Amino acid sequence: MFDNLSTKLDKAFKTLKGQGSITEINVAATVKEIRRALVDADVNYKVAKEVTDKIKEEAMGRDVLVAVSPGQLMTKIVYDELTQLMGGEKQDIQVKGDPAVILLSGLQGSGKTTFAGKLAAHLKKQGRQVLLVACDVYRPAAIDQLKVLAEQVGVDVYSEPENKNPVDISRNAVEFARKNNKKVVIIDTAGRLAVDEQMMAEIEQVKRAVNPSETLFVVDSMTGQDAVNTAKTFNDRLNFDGVVLTKLDGDSRGGAALSIRAVVEKPIKFISTGEKMEALDLFYPDRMAQRILGMGDVISLVERAQQQFDEEEAKRINQKIRKNQFNFDDFLSQLEQIKKMGNIKDLVGMIPGVGKAMKDVEIDDDAFKPIEAIIKSMTPKERAQPELLNGSRRKRLAQGSGTDIQQVNALMKQFEDMRKVMRTMNKMSSTKGGMAQMA
Ligand code: GDP
Repeated sequence: MFDNLSTKLDKAFKTLKGQGSITEINVAATVKEIRRALVDADVNYKVAKEVTDKIKEEAMGRDVLVAVSPGQLMTKIVYDELTQLMGGEKQDIQVKGDPAVILLSGLQGSGKTTFAGKLAAHLKKQGRQVLLVACDVYRPAAIDQLKVLAEQVGVDVYSEPENKNPVDISRNAVEFARKNNKKVVIIDTAGRLAVDEQMMAEIEQVKRAVNPSETLFVVDSMTGQDAVNTAKTFNDRLNFDGVVLTKLDGDSRGGAALSIRAVVEKPIKFISTGEKMEALDLFYPDRMAQRILGMGDVISLVERAQQQFDEEEAKRINQKIRKNQFNFDDFLSQLEQIKKMGNIKDLVGMIPGVGKAMKDVEIDDDAFKPIEAIIKSMTPKERAQPELLNGSRRKRLAQGSGTDIQQVNALMKQFEDMRKVMRTMNKMSSTKGGMAQMA
């Protein structure tokens, strides 16, 4: 689903450049693009504005770490804000009482009955005795549909085809459950094509009669902004506990997932991604944000960099790069920093695009050892002024470090190439100057 949004956000991040820190002008343009991408994805305008204002505030003047680019840093900031927007932590449903009652509400066609079957299967897997209750007294076909689903997942259905009073039916169902050792009762109520007073009054009465431990509102994510409006209407009447977003497998633009929580202040608890009974997922705001950004790996990379990188050191190195003074002491310090971040292969795997390509390449954490040995064999003066390293000095380094002259020459060449790249980058005034991108 979020393909379009992901592509647009990615584009917005790519335009971002920074000089050590992200500047106001830079952020303003990027944030504007992010806002447009969100609105295009059907995110409620007010929500999009609020979230992008927060992103802007967060991003302003943030120092760019040596290991990441401004775009990567922005991705992380947007990820954090989207996660918060969708509620932060995962929220579970409350299954409490004897029996526990779960009431489902929502418009007709939202996927309520399908979800009832999925939820029954989900709770059954946890070892609970589940009873499904057909409370749609207007559409006899709805009862049959629930029975078919119940049979598929192996749970019982309670229905009273002759009874036209949903309040009575649900009360009786709870009583039946009590007597028959059913621990969870899931009530599938009648929906309408649009919100109407009678439906609302009816479900309100059912809620009062059976006192559910969880009332869920089921909504079709494909309905975009309407999903948010309907959620608001239902919540005003029912004060539900959580939202189930359905049809996220379709070409929904995803805006509902992003705005519902902020507008109705109720968490999304499940997402449904298909017609099959297995197609149910718990809702994790952080995973959803990663999916939207399409770059979960970048987020872990930035997080690790933030945890491990010494910002002061990073700033110092950035300064040196900019002044074309990067020397072997700095090189060594950078190696130390990279090593602190953990297993090299894991790190490389996190860089988008690179990860897959490098999957089968052996990267040895010991690969740095000879390089370190060579640098450590240099005198302080040689480290600071690498141009002093002539043939005889190089021979001495090879001997001192237990390597050979080819390895020393290779390192010299690598170092010189790196400085060339840095000089070019300085000319282009871009700050993508981290060892992580050059190693
Ligand atoms: P109800 O009227 O709210 O009970 O909705 P139904 O459960 O009958 O669902 C309406 C239609 O949507 C049915 O054809 C379902 O198979 C389909 N449906 C339900 N959930 C999903 C979903 O997550 N993805 C897709 N693609 N279809 C779904």
